[in-house]
Amino acid sequence: MQIVVDLNRCQGYAQCVFLAPRVFELHGEEALRYAPAPPDDQAERVRRAAAACPVQAILVGDRAGAESGKGAAADDR
Ligand code: SF4
Repeated sequence: MQIVVDLNRCQGYAQCVFLAPRVFELHGEEALRYAPAPPDDQAERVRRAAAACPVQAILVGDRAGAESGKGAAADDR
């Protein structure tokens, strides 16, 4: 699976870090690091993390591929 986190949207709430600590990692207050291609055994955790993110910053699977080219493009959702 592939994931993309919109770091412009991410507020560092760390919900994803609690739910999938092998995939998401917070450095300092708001600097999120993540594995863009997490192993399959993390898929369920990643989906839960994406669902739990308060600002829907985590894009999973096909959507991640489609969105990754956008970079910092505005998203008014
Ligand atoms: S849960 Fe969402 S806002 Fe919080 S750190 Fe993860 S991606 Fe960022």
